[in-house]
Amino acid sequence: MKRLGVYMVSVLIITIILPAVIVKTINFVPKENTVSGVGFNEETKEPPKYIISEPPNKKVKKKIETVKVYNPYTNETIEMDLEEYVKGVVAAEMPAEFHIDALKAQAVAARTYAVSRTLKYEEGHPDHMEAPLCIGIHCQAYLSLDELKHIHGEDWEGKYWGKIEEAVMTTKGLLIYYQGEVIEPLYHSTSGGMTEDAIDVFSTDMPYLKAVISPYEEDAPKYKSIVTITGDEFIKKINNKYPDANLAKDNFFEKIKLIERTESGRIKKIAIGNRIIEGREFRELFALNSTNFVITYDQQLNIIDITTYGFGHGVGMSQWGANGMAKKGSSYIEILEHYYTGVEIR
Ligand SMILES: [Zn+2]
Repeated sequence: MKRLGVYMVSVLIITIILPAVIVKTINFVPKENTVSGVGFNEETKEPPKYIISEPPNKKVKKKIETVKVYNPYTNETIEMDLEEYVKGVVAAEMPAEFHIDALKAQAVAARTYAVSRTLKYEEGHPDHMEAPLCIGIHCQAYLSLDELKHIHGEDWEGKYWGKIEEAVMTTKGLLIYYQGEVIEPLYHSTSGGMTEDAIDVFSTDMPYLKAVISPYEEDAPKYKSIVTITGDEFIKKINNKYPDANLAKDNFFEKIKLIERTESGRIKKIAIGNRIIEGREFRELFALNSTNFVITYDQQLNIIDITTYGFGHGVGMSQWGANGMAKKGSSYIEILEHYYTGVEIR
């Protein structure tokens, strides 16, 4: 606090002070019930442009009971029972300590993801022609029970495996649909308060992957984190990556400017000198948890703090948000309907 008090005047915050014409105003209109049915930017919402490379898949009637999964570490491909696979994904993707309804929501999302990939890439995924799914984070993580015991200890099975099985078996066969089609339900660790529209992250407009608030994430370990570096380090890193930037301490605030935010408030475009870079590129350069960040430069101390909110791409269901909602009493159906806009679970 003392530091803040003394240098208050000299600390300049490069947030987001930009002409209103450039920054889209977030029109945050929570309805009475803040958990479900939250309205976001309703007025400016355009009709959904459903841009998908292939025509909608009509083969959903074909019942998928097994999935083919490629293991990139051993180069093996195995075929396994869908529900057994989903158990290994839930346990790998979400802490088993989470509320049972968060685990159920994860089970339905993981199952739907597996089915949608299997329908879409029947002949193998372009990145791994061996199978439509892999066990790495490229698709969704999967761990066998032996691997889980190896990671968490022998007593993990007795303590948590029953809960994982319950989450999967009580939702057996349930999938998420949008207008009759199985969706691709992306999910991530922590949104930082609001999820992201798929178009701002993957340049693909998905009517069910829209920005929604994610109110109960305070318990998430990566809800907020700060990267602190010296001004010199920051400037060196930028100039190495963008030699024409000619960034220096005395031109810092003229050279670095926020150009555009996404609808959820993440950094979409940032100007460094004459160059415009994507928020994603900046995130990679400084190994940030997300593109939801604020840069603070204390010129007196020559210290830069980059504060980030959330962890991951921010699209679809927030796992920590799901746990927060479950703890507040939402069912897994309510959680899924909140994070995936306009869907049906059946
Ligand atoms: Zn994969």
